[in-house]
Amino acid sequence: MAEALRTVVIGAGMGGLVAALRLARSGHQVTVLESAPRVGGKIHTQTVNDVEIDSGPTVFTMRWVFDELLRSVGTRLEDHVRLAPLQVLARHFWYDGTQLDLFADAQRSEAAVADWAGGAEAARFKDFCDRARSVHDTLEGPFMKSQRPGWLELTTRLGPSGLGVLSSIGPMRTLWQQMVRQFRDPRLQQLFARYATYCGSSPWQAPATLMLVAQVEMDGVWSVEGGMGALAEMLSRLASHHGASLRLGCRAQRIDVRQQRVCGVELATGEVLPADQVLFNGDAASLRQGLLGPAVRRAVPAQAPARSLSAVTWAMHAPVSGVALDRHNVFFCPEYQQEFDDIFLRQRLPQLPTVYVCAQDRPAAVPEGAPERVLALVNAPANGDKPPWRDEDLDTCQATTFSYLNCLGLRLPFSSQGMRRNSPVDFHRRFPASGGALYGQATHGWTSIFSRPGSRTPVHGLYLAGGSVHPGPGVPMAALSGHLAAEAMLASPGLTRRSRPVATFGGMSTP
Ligand SMILES: Cc1cc2nc3c(=O)[nH]c(=O)nc-3n(C[C@H](O)[C@H](O)[C@H](O)COP(=O)(O)OP(=O)(O)OC[C@H]3O[C@@H](n4cnc5c(N)ncnc54)[C@H](O)[C@@H]3O)c2cc1C
Repeated sequence: MAEALRTVVIGAGMGGLVAALRLARSGHQVTVLESAPRVGGKIHTQTVNDVEIDSGPTVFTMRWVFDELLRSVGTRLEDHVRLAPLQVLARHFWYDGTQLDLFADAQRSEAAVADWAGGAEAARFKDFCDRARSVHDTLEGPFMKSQRPGWLELTTRLGPSGLGVLSSIGPMRTLWQQMVRQFRDPRLQQLFARYATYCGSSPWQAPATLMLVAQVEMDGVWSVEGGMGALAEMLSRLASHHGASLRLGCRAQRIDVRQQRVCGVELATGEVLPADQVLFNGDAASLRQGLLGPAVRRAVPAQAPARSLSAVTWAMHAPVSGVALDRHNVFFCPEYQQEFDDIFLRQRLPQLPTVYVCAQDRPAAVPEGAPERVLALVNAPANGDKPPWRDEDLDTCQATTFSYLNCLGLRLPFSSQGMRRNSPVDFHRRFPASGGALYGQATHGWTSIFSRPGSRTPVHGLYLAGGSVHPGPGVPMAALSGHLAAEAMLASPGLTRRSRPVATFGGMSTP
């Protein structure tokens, strides 16, 4: 029998863990190196008053990605984590005192829009849902679930009907332009344009196709019992069960290459792990900047694309009053374009931000006056590697954010003991070479989706997975990228391996 391939996975984020699980299950001898003390990467908690608060991703969508993944490794998602579907997808608040809920039940959302903005706007909402659904369905197979295509390849895969769908929304339009055509009510324009930020992008620069993100959310949002970390822990447990070895607190400092092919990984301690294949799950910019050694710089294009959004976050354990929160809440600012101009053009914290508030104990009832777990987040520029970052600027942003919430009726008392703040500087420290960008490169301009690296690189044996790689950021998309990388590695020519039969990952195309 052939020897098992030695595969080193650098990074235990979503992409790395999914790939590790798939490869271990297929018989690879997998070692996962993670510099942090816990798995999960951007999925992380902060402890405030002895309570753990999810301080990374909080909106869990596309559960089918995990259903299919677990099925493909011979088990079921529901045997490992408990997910509860949310009836209210998100509650939205505006500066004029109005608010609107979107529901998992599309008809309920349509009725809510009709009550709130009139029948004509509700009809436009329905039309928007139809368009978002067809863009989503058009791109799901040929783009999201497939190895990164080039422009011509995508055109071929889409065929005349797919191309027809995309041209009907004007593929060169920005998401903002499309929302202005779609809705008359500026609040709805703002609400649906915000989906560009799920990919860390500005609605004024993101392509209209990003309306598919709205569809992803309308397909369902779940809460995860035990927090988002339960997903990462589950993957790590399953990967270990299939023989992967996880080394936490272990930083990779160089990927070695011999005769044009990866041959090992050197750790910060100087230890060298021989490897037949390496998967890098950190930000692809790390390779470009030479943080993994000179031999693998060419693995990603030399030209640095625009970075996606970073954030300032506050994790709190505090009593909340004033307005009834649901689990996911958005408090919109009055000058939306100004917010993105501040971030992307002026590279500064927004003067008046839109605030996302995740009340993590809801929708269950929280006793009045009792402290609850809250994460507040505002968008920020990804310049955490460009000093000077002044604490005064963050303090001003904090004061503005909380006084704006207060203006909109939300009383969120906090003290330095009851709160933990994270800034682009902190995110940059944890995610090297990112500047604090949380979603890899920005999806700006209609060609940007083709400039994200795919799972294969020009360095033989080196593969990529994660939010900075095709098909893009977000927990399920990073998981998909891990799956695509594993598929590419399993199909790698010229390498022998000992493999077990594995169920395929629901209808995915393989290379
Ligand atoms: C505040 C915040 C809010 C978000 N909100 C959402 C949301 O609501 N919904 C959603 O779907 N997504 C959200 N996201 C995005 C989502 O979390 C990410 O897109 C996804 O988790 C990224 O996964 P990844 O595979 O890229 O790995 P990452 O999470 O980026 O992890 C990469 C890992 O690699 C490790 N690493 C890097 N270099 C090395 C090295 N040299 N040696 C060893 N280890 C290394 C890092 O320590 C890290 O643990 C949010 C992110 C943040 C931070």
